[in-house]
Amino acid sequence: MDTPRVVVFDAGDEDDAARHLAQSVSEIGSSTPLVVTSVHGEHLARKIHGARFETPPEDASIDWASILGADAHRSGCDIVVAVGGGRCLDLAKLAAARAGLTMVSVPTQLSHDGLCSPVAVAPGHDGIKRSVGAIAPRSVYLSLPTLQKSPAASVRAGIGDLLANPFALRDWALAKERGLAEVDQVAWDMSERSYATIEPFLEIDLTDGLHDSAFLRSLADALVLSGIAMIHSGSSRPASGGEHEISHALDELFGGPGMHGAQVAFGCIFSAALYGDDPGAVRKRLTKLGLPADPGALGLSHEDAVKVLLAAPDTRPGRFTIIEEAALDESGAQRLVGEIWRP
Ligand SMILES: [Zn+2]
Repeated sequence: MDTPRVVVFDAGDEDDAARHLAQSVSEIGSSTPLVVTSVHGEHLARKIHGARFETPPEDASIDWASILGADAHRSGCDIVVAVGGGRCLDLAKLAAARAGLTMVSVPTQLSHDGLCSPVAVAPGHDGIKRSVGAIAPRSVYLSLPTLQKSPAASVRAGIGDLLANPFALRDWALAKERGLAEVDQVAWDMSERSYATIEPFLEIDLTDGLHDSAFLRSLADALVLSGIAMIHSGSSRPASGGEHEISHALDELFGGPGMHGAQVAFGCIFSAALYGDDPGAVRKRLTKLGLPADPGALGLSHEDAVKVLLAAPDTRPGRFTIIEEAALDESGAQRLVGEIWRP
């Protein structure tokens, strides 16, 4: 297994980071990189030498990434560097996989654990987002001065994505118990460690500390470790269970009303309730973290939440989680939603 190399830049402003990133890319031995950058990433990316720059259009899909990758291969690009948010990183991962090139991931936000995972989420022909296997980055470059400027909502979403890990592990154990999955202990331990890295921050008031550099480093470490757990196990199992199915269902039925990590955090409420934990405690935690604790926070009604719960199992055929175990029919789903959000 190739573990991505992680470079953290924390010794100046964003201009210094841009120079340092350019130097790091040429040190890898690249002379003609394809740089896929978001508008937010341009500042950090602009000093990379000899680069071909591409910014994904608003409607960039899996096909867009595939065409870009084929073109990069033909025109002799030697590496893919992705500088941007999750969408940009995911499209670049797909392009790199198509081109047969390695990739450097340079997140400008810490909004989900895809910054270092082999999985990409991007829209297909129909505009619906899909989770597809791609390649894992060879290295991850973290510019602290850039991450400190990221929106608070994206930092909250990054925390939200990590809240999934303990539930994903329970789902993994459950699938093993039913003879439907093998557990990879190394990946399991990494996922546990990833959550443990962020856990101390869940108990304190982060209102003013979301852009604190020590916190961002811990969040980055946790997200990277979660990604490496997925690379190691060759599946998203260590960090994705029923709560991710809820997020996929929100994408499919309601066009993704929240950021991925926020939707996943919302999904944790259902997993907790189905495992017999107190969903109120999870809701309280989410409220404190500024994450959606009820359907209304995502612009949905309780009836919509029932639809999401019923659609969740079909979003990941072949994955067995507490949601499949519960096998809820419509009245069961209504009852659960009613119990969680009792007026
Ligand atoms: Zn996720």
